[in-house]
Amino acid sequence: MDNNRQKGILYIVVPCFNEEEALETSAEKLLEKLYELKANGVVCEESRIVFVDDGSKDRTWEIIKALYESHEEIKGLRFAHNRGHQNAILAGMMYAVKYCDFTITIDADLQQDVNAMERFIGAYMEGSEIVYGVRNSRDTDGFFKKLSATIFYKSMKLMDCNIYENSADYRLMSRKALEALSEYGEVNLFLRGIIPDIGLKSSVVHFEVFPRMQGESKYSLSKMFTLAVDGITSFSIKPIRMVFMMGILALMVGFFMIIHIIYEHYFGYTVSGWSSILMSIWVLGGAVLLSLGIIGEYVGRNYLETKHRPRYYFWEILSRDENVIDTKDQ
Ligand code: UDP
Ligand code: MG
Repeated sequence: MDNNRQKGILYIVVPCFNEEEALETSAEKLLEKLYELKANGVVCEESRIVFVDDGSKDRTWEIIKALYESHEEIKGLRFAHNRGHQNAILAGMMYAVKYCDFTITIDADLQQDVNAMERFIGAYMEGSEIVYGVRNSRDTDGFFKKLSATIFYKSMKLMDCNIYENSADYRLMSRKALEALSEYGEVNLFLRGIIPDIGLKSSVVHFEVFPRMQGESKYSLSKMFTLAVDGITSFSIKPIRMVFMMGILALMVGFFMIIHIIYEHYFGYTVSGWSSILMSIWVLGGAVLLSLGIIGEYVGRNYLETKHRPRYYFWEILSRDENVIDTKDQ
């Protein structure tokens, strides 16, 4: 039993993509929090903050470098190009697992309340291997984000994916949980779905979400769409099954149509059915295209997975540790 653990080394992992506006203020707040945690004896002296630059095109890396030079608590990792939020978090955690007892991941805009960290660590000290951050409300989100999030979580539930509603990537993971996560080799990453699948002892911390203070959201519509499709396709084959059911249904309707047509043919009701024919062309055409699309998503993902390409590759690493690590994932 791991109950009542010793205080440990914390690594705070922060994914950053074009965050030049927010980074300095956020780093200051995070450092303040880290100093406070250390001073109160909650975490060990060796605790660090790791910024993962996800291929930013602005001054993000320069800022991280300057922060690294002026603070021994700060480390930096840099991707050569944009690999996405999920990969940035994963890379940070997989790097950190070599040095720490547990990680907390948090967004660079600090929309998530840093003051919830004590509660995350409290749950870890009591034996949780994973502590999920669940947001109290979505009041700070715009109408579109709220709507898309609701549709997303509802469809994930419908597809049997085990996921906490409104869970964010603000999360604590122990070394044991990180080691388990490192065994998951998929390229199309959806951490919010994979992590509950690990199945270790977990708990939930509720936290407040604030509006983004600097810069704009780095989650474009296409990134959100990719994340949602990754989420659904990596956890469920239900959509393919639904396509199959739709096919059976269409066949049954087709069968009745044949009977109907034969009947019409012999009993002479040859009413011109322009609108109904046109409608069925569109509806069936749409259904066929949608079904092909769904199958295509799965086939495409299969193709990407079988190539076993690395998920990320560190271009630069800023660290004062002696340990030389592989720049490549796993
Ligand atoms: N992010 C990233 N790579 C991307 C997009 C976003 O590392 O391709 C980071 C971003 O810098 C931030 C976090 O992911 O730290 C969440 O992004 P953002 O705050 O823009 O998303 P939102 O809060 O609008 O959902
Ligand atoms: Mg944000």
